[in-house]
Amino acid sequence: MCGIVSYVGEEPKATRLLLQGLKSLEYRGYDSSGIALLNDTLSVYKNKGKILDLEKSLSTLSDEEREKLDQSICGIGHTRWATHGEPSDINAHPHMDSDGTIAVVHNGIIRNYIKLKKELIYKGYTFKSDTDTEVIANLFSYIRKDLIAKGEYEDFLAMRLLSSRLEGSYALAILLNESVNPNTTQPAKRILLAKHESPLVIGVGQSENFAASDSDTVLQFTDSIIRLADREFAVISKNTIDIQDFEGNMIKPVIEVLKKNDSLMDKKGYKHFLLKEINEQPTVLSKMLSLIEDSTYENFKLINFNINFAEIEKIYCIACGSAYHSAQALKYILGSWCSLPVDVIVASEFNFQHKLIGERDLLIGVSQSGETADTILALQKAKSAGARLLAITNRPASAINNLCGANTYITPADLEISVASTKAYTSQLMAHYLLALQIATARKAISREFFTDILHNLKTLPVLLDQMLNRANHYKAAAVNFAGYRDFIFLSRGINHTTAMEGALKLKELSYAHASAYPSGELKHGPIAILDENVPVISIAIPSIYPDEQIIYEKIIHNALEAKTRKSPSILLTTDSNQDHVEEFDLVMRIPDIDQLFSPILATIPLQFLAYFIAENLGKDVDQPRNLAKSVTVE
Ligand code: GLU
Repeated sequence: MCGIVSYVGEEPKATRLLLQGLKSLEYRGYDSSGIALLNDTLSVYKNKGKILDLEKSLSTLSDEEREKLDQSICGIGHTRWATHGEPSDINAHPHMDSDGTIAVVHNGIIRNYIKLKKELIYKGYTFKSDTDTEVIANLFSYIRKDLIAKGEYEDFLAMRLLSSRLEGSYALAILLNESVNPNTTQPAKRILLAKHESPLVIGVGQSENFAASDSDTVLQFTDSIIRLADREFAVISKNTIDIQDFEGNMIKPVIEVLKKNDSLMDKKGYKHFLLKEINEQPTVLSKMLSLIEDSTYENFKLINFNINFAEIEKIYCIACGSAYHSAQALKYILGSWCSLPVDVIVASEFNFQHKLIGERDLLIGVSQSGETADTILALQKAKSAGARLLAITNRPASAINNLCGANTYITPADLEISVASTKAYTSQLMAHYLLALQIATARKAISREFFTDILHNLKTLPVLLDQMLNRANHYKAAAVNFAGYRDFIFLSRGINHTTAMEGALKLKELSYAHASAYPSGELKHGPIAILDENVPVISIAIPSIYPDEQIIYEKIIHNALEAKTRKSPSILLTTDSNQDHVEEFDLVMRIPDIDQLFSPILATIPLQFLAYFIAENLGKDVDQPRNLAKSVTVE
């Protein structure tokens, strides 16, 4: 969601680096983009649409304007994910104050912007856009002019006054045209930064400095970073980095040296990042298994969490989107292995129920980006209620990791560029199995034999998944049959309700078709009314050697056949050797033989392919579906 990038240096490369930085932030999801450059005056270039559209419009500028672009040594850039005001050229960032002396890019939401806007209009400021962000530009302009008039202007003081008026979340990068403040002793080419509940990191270079929404973007330019904490400001110029907190205390910058990630934007020969990431799943899973700290029955440890799992009375698993689906698997597994109650709650809903949490509860936050605003808030609320915290995230340098410290499990899926989650989702599923194993062994809830059986099954998954990747064409052929439909129903029960929900979400995200998932027993309680020959039903039914799960399997088949009799095109997703009832379905998609209890990871793969190939067939933007953001940093 939204990306910010900033550059200040001495070589005329601002435009190139800003565009490069914006491209590496594309994965976060956006609807428009723009840059502002500081030369003798401020210039803003922005467009609705992709960065490619911005580049195209830059290429049509006059020679004089092009010269400005080519000479710039200081600028800020933005990819916008609209929250206030539709995606349009005017609403795109950067925004300027009405005098054109300040340019601002913003990630987040200003809740009190209507009140501030009225106040500023009353003071004579004008507004061009519908965004909340433009209020920041005009408010800062007002504060700055006032301080200059009193001879008291100072960057940090102005920012403190600004933030004292803003309610909401914001990462900000601000450029100032210094011609209105001729007496300043500060370097004219500098960038003001602020961080409050939205991500922002600084990159430290040689006679140049950077800032961006994530460390991977900065790592393309330098390996030294400074993580701004919440409620901190910074002012960066080519040779200086000054940091202050919102209370006015100077902060000594802590520089971290990280490994550069050169291959960030490399599709490695795949047509889309999504396809590349689907294909990376076996490697991610085997890495996870090889990183288990102790795989003995007596002392099983995924990692050495600082939590006594034997004492936990209840688990709340809090997440959004695909991460929320993955958490349903944890609920099922822990319920069946340890009879431990697990409530899985969508983070934005949990945030209004936090009083239920107590000291013997464990709150697990799951977030691919580690920056999901709702999940962070849930963890903060649980922390103040005295509950124990644990996080599962894909990003080591993230707010969630900062909050949960040693009790953070980092899934080694590496950066996912495609907005729709694939490898991060299956790595979350694997994390849930392994975490459940640690909890179950700590509570002495499972036998040694069952433990060995579980571990054996989990260890076969990367190999089986690898074999499945060769079946892409089989799944493609299935997808082509279904590309024209607008509505889909996904059915399953038990642990694969997780899979049905994720399959439906993937299809919605990538193809924009409507898809709903139901526990198959719910079909008769309403959804069956919409079934006819225009609504395909995809049923996920995987047999099991465990009696409880085998009953679930039989019931799913039974429900799937009920749907079939309503003339719905029927797809069965089952295992290779299962021949039970298969001739009654219009199409059968298969996965290698695996027990139902361990099947969600494998059963997800055909559904990822199905969504991918349907979207491809329809000519959709697979890696950056409309309206979606990768890292949802606003509530
Ligand atoms: N709220 C701002 C807008 O709608 C910023 C959105 C973002 O984070 O991209 O323009």
